[in-house]
Amino acid sequence: MSPSTLVFVEEREGELVPGSLGLLAKAAELGGEPVALLCGSGVRDLAEELGNWGAARVLVAEAPELDGPLAQPRVDVLAGVLERGGYDTVLFENSALTADVAAALAARLYAGVNWDLVDLRMEDGELVGERLAVGDTVLVDVAWTGEPRIAVVRRGILDPSAEGARTADIESVDVAVDERSTRVALVERSSDRSQKTSIETAEVVVAGGRGIGERDNLRLLEELAEALGGAVGVTMPLVDRGWYPYAHQVGQTGHTVRPRLYLACGISGAVQHRVGMEKSGTIVAINSDPTAPIFRYSDVGVVGDMLEIVPRLTQLIRDRGLSA
Ligand code: FAD
Repeated sequence: MSPSTLVFVEEREGELVPGSLGLLAKAAELGGEPVALLCGSGVRDLAEELGNWGAARVLVAEAPELDGPLAQPRVDVLAGVLERGGYDTVLFENSALTADVAAALAARLYAGVNWDLVDLRMEDGELVGERLAVGDTVLVDVAWTGEPRIAVVRRGILDPSAEGARTADIESVDVAVDERSTRVALVERSSDRSQKTSIETAEVVVAGGRGIGERDNLRLLEELAEALGGAVGVTMPLVDRGWYPYAHQVGQTGHTVRPRLYLACGISGAVQHRVGMEKSGTIVAINSDPTAPIFRYSDVGVVGDMLEIVPRLTQLIRDRGLSA
């Protein structure tokens, strides 16, 4: 039997989060008619877009308490919708907000939550989640023993699809926010503006690893990224050393990227890095070690010193007028 799926669609600063839209495509693939839940304040116009991404119905919860990205008012809304019945599965894409919402919802409803899923499928009428384990080296199946089944999908894994586009029915839902849920208030909102282009949306990512040697050499990556009109990505060790902000980390505990071109410079290609970039269009690796694992999943491999090659490449792109 197809699941009755409620998809929690995240809105951030007036825009729909693309991964949430990917959840709608996945829900449609699982069967049944996906229903989207959109919470916020002044989000009705966004609700109308959700039919384009495959939602059969959109529940809109609007209230001043839902204005900021706070979890508890959203948990109240979700718990109310689920208590009225009709849904056996709730899908979230992982984010700072949805991680809180999914966990609190599971606690509130004594429901099972499976985390960090990379895919979902139906098998013999049962919903099965797929997640990576043992440092992302093994793919395991996970399931739920009761309902509602709460599934949190790894960020950036699911692509939105306009294939099932339709006109969705839009329905307002009553918002009854518990007094306790309003005790946390949003004091201030700020965002990291250090990133000129987001690595998640950039067409080109120039990524660097420990092979850059010194912090100052990061400028070589920045110059190449600028010449190509792309963004800089880094491996975890560079973030751990405080050399570059977390917003640029690619990998299991960083971001998943899918640029048309991924240039990996001085990166060994550990599995935890690989899971964040292997779906890129073309992967070009520069590494001085011909046995580096990164070459196993690169389309083009260059064995050499990135500190020599990267500046020459930047110069070449500039000289030939190939700059974006
Ligand atoms: P190294 O593995 O040290 O590789 C450096 C490479 O540079 C080597 O291959 C070397 O041959 C090459 N090199 C050296 N000098 C030059 C030169 N002059 N020119 C060209 N090549 C050169 N890592 C991530 O990146 N993202 C994650 O999200 C992440 N999450 C993790 C989560 C967990 C739970 C764990 C346990 C680990 C995680 N890691 C993550 C760490 C990961 O396991 C690796 O340690 C890390 O990716 C290695 O980074 P690196 O390639 O920069 O460094």
